[in-house]
Amino acid sequence: MSTQTLEKPPVPALDEARAFAARRHQLFIGGRWVEPQSGERFATHDPATGAHVADVAKAMEADVDLAVHAARAAMEDTAWAEMKPNARALLLNRLADALERHADEFAALETMDQGKPVRDARFFDLPYAVDLLRYNAGWATKLNGESISLSGPGTWHAFTVREPIGVVAQIVPWNAPIAMAVAKIAPALAAGCAVILKPAEETPMTALRLAHLIEEVGFPAGAFNLLTGFGDSAGAALTAHPGVDKVTFTGSTEVGRLIINAAAGNFKRVTLELGGKTPCIILPDADVGAAIQGAARSIFSNAGQICNAGSRLFVHRNIFEQVVEGVSAIAEGTKVGGGFDADTQMGPVISSTQRERILGYVKGGLEAGATLRAGGREIGGPGAFVAPTVLTDTDAQMAVRREEIFGPVLCAMSFGDEDLEQIARDANASDYGLGAVIWTNNLSAAHRLARKLKAGTVRVNGGGLDPALPFGGFKQSGWGRENGREGIDAYTEVKSIAMAI
Ligand code: ADP
Repeated sequence: MSTQTLEKPPVPALDEARAFAARRHQLFIGGRWVEPQSGERFATHDPATGAHVADVAKAMEADVDLAVHAARAAMEDTAWAEMKPNARALLLNRLADALERHADEFAALETMDQGKPVRDARFFDLPYAVDLLRYNAGWATKLNGESISLSGPGTWHAFTVREPIGVVAQIVPWNAPIAMAVAKIAPALAAGCAVILKPAEETPMTALRLAHLIEEVGFPAGAFNLLTGFGDSAGAALTAHPGVDKVTFTGSTEVGRLIINAAAGNFKRVTLELGGKTPCIILPDADVGAAIQGAARSIFSNAGQICNAGSRLFVHRNIFEQVVEGVSAIAEGTKVGGGFDADTQMGPVISSTQRERILGYVKGGLEAGATLRAGGREIGGPGAFVAPTVLTDTDAQMAVRREEIFGPVLCAMSFGDEDLEQIARDANASDYGLGAVIWTNNLSAAHRLARKLKAGTVRVNGGGLDPALPFGGFKQSGWGRENGREGIDAYTEVKSIAMAI
């Protein structure tokens, strides 16, 4: 993600955020705010305190149907379907400016809803979302086809054009709500698709606020629609609806599988960004201090609720103890608390159910013989807090080592002087293949290992997400890529046109 200088803590726009949360929230369909057909609402809660945040409209199948019709109408209406690429770019840039202007309020809403430290939301998630809008705005005017030479008899003028896929359902999770929502809508709108966004039921606030900005900057009716609601009702209805041309989803691998099945009816295009069990490999020549900081940041940021969190740490035995002690000291020294406390470094996990699930993995590992080096317990409070945890002596069969935990739990393993082939085999011993991190100063080892790892993104000596860098997974980590050229191409269909001349 963009690096920002954290010179001073933000002044959270809490009053504005609270006033927004207290409003009567509706669904945004066809350019209008409307009541859900059922009239039902559901409550959301602050994971740091359990306090009520907002009552949100509950979209069901009938609302999905209305949103799909509105999006289809937009794909046929000249205002959106024939809008020039530079006008789409302008709207996205205006949205970026508006989001930047309201970044304090968005950060406060994100922290109320999701729990992350407000400083992270303000200086990490929000700038990334703004960058995503500006980056994708740039693509709107560059979606060109190719001129093709044909070999058949006759004289031909043949070329390809890229057309928007059509109506896209975009389903996002609760770990980085505004960043995930913008990562989906920005390329889709840049490509000229009509979007139906469904935020996670736990964290709808920033998507709702974003819909108001989208309305203000003047996107044509139906180009963007927002449905707040639950996965098994609104989400499932969207993914099965025959009027939807494509689904893009970020979330769990189990739900990814349900979506593949639901999408099969009309052969929807599907992009899936699913789970991960990212290996972080520290070679003996690495800058150990930087690697320790990087390894800790990779697993404890956002309380480990990141799909490419570095949850498996492989360290050369010469520096294993030093690294484990260093990461464990960071874990024990991390100030865990509410996201609005100025000294909080790690917030709560999303819910008490999730806290129990995470601690269950740790308990299972310990019962099977793992050694606890840090954390391994809940931290008291009304909210759902888990201490940053480090385990050693796990084996490859343990669930804590194999499955995605989505919490601040690190399994550390040592390796000897095996060649890179063996290190890669151990790191690749996972159903997932989203990310991998290598720490080394050996250029040749870095290149060779990077090519052997089965992961969508390999980072060497740090770094993060960037709107220009394709992101996605090998194996059960997903289908397709978001970001970069691949990310926007995934919202287009290629049409070949051949003319006998
Ligand atoms: P997590 O494990 O991160 O909570 P989920 O995969 O359960 O992730 O949820 C991510 C998103 O998927 C949320 O917006 C949720 O509402 C949605 N979702 C959950 N179940 C389904 C489903 N059966 N069909 C479509 N969307 C779903």
